Amino acid sequence: MAVPWYPRIAAWLLTIATVLTLLTVAGCGGGGLPQPSETSRSATTPSVPDPGTGDSVEGDIDAAVSITNTYWSTHWNEFFTGTYRPPRVLGAYDGATGTAPTCGGTALPDNNAVYCPGGDYVAWDMDLMRAGHQRGDAWVYLVIAHEWGHAIQNRLDAGLVDLARELQADCLAGAVLFGAARDNTLTFEDGDTDELADALSALADETPWTNTSDHGNASQRVSAFSRGAESGVKGCLPNAVR
Ligand SMILES: [Zn+2]
Repeated sequence: MAVPWYPRIAAWLLTIATVLTLLTVAGCGGGGLPQPSETSRSATTPSVPDPGTGDSVEGDIDAAVSITNTYWSTHWNEFFTGTYRPPRVLGAYDGATGTAPTCGGTALPDNNAVYCPGGDYVAWDMDLMRAGHQRGDAWVYLVIAHEWGHAIQNRLDAGLVDLARELQADCLAGAVLFGAARDNTLTFEDGDTDELADALSALADETPWTNTSDHGNASQRVSAFSRGAESGVKGCLPNAVR
């Protein structure tokens, strides 16, 4: 993924949305984007390596923070009342050496990423980010947009926070990344949608969602992300008219 220097044509974005629609297991409510065509790539297409853009993991993290915050700053008032407040970006930590910061008195988890409600910050273990970035740069955009989604949930009335809060965070991540692409603050490169599906699957639970702390299995995570990509933030809210 990249921060574009020039706007891309809308047709490419629509192609991406079509691919993600194909990845969806449960039916989506439709969001004004085209239905999948027979010629689109399938979910089984192997992940395509990045075409050598040479972006560092640190550079992609900075870009992901910037585009995610810009999206919410720009669009908050389309969905919610009040003023948008970004979470603090605590950023990188090392969960393996006993030096990790704490959240609620507990050290941040090794090889993971978090939103800490008490400190109102987002943070990530760099081992997780580096390993994910090796699989594809879209990984860091997904992780940051997902954790930022938890910060957004923490700002909402309880009735707007889905019981499946992890899947709602995936949905919000989809809304942000595809919304940013529509805003031309983010450009999808070849292979990014495969990388997103790969990351969601790699980070998924092995069993389906059953309680609020679950992340959901791979198909549930991809489905939730795709709903946000297609229907936007409103499609991620409980009882929303989609
Ligand atoms: Zn989460």
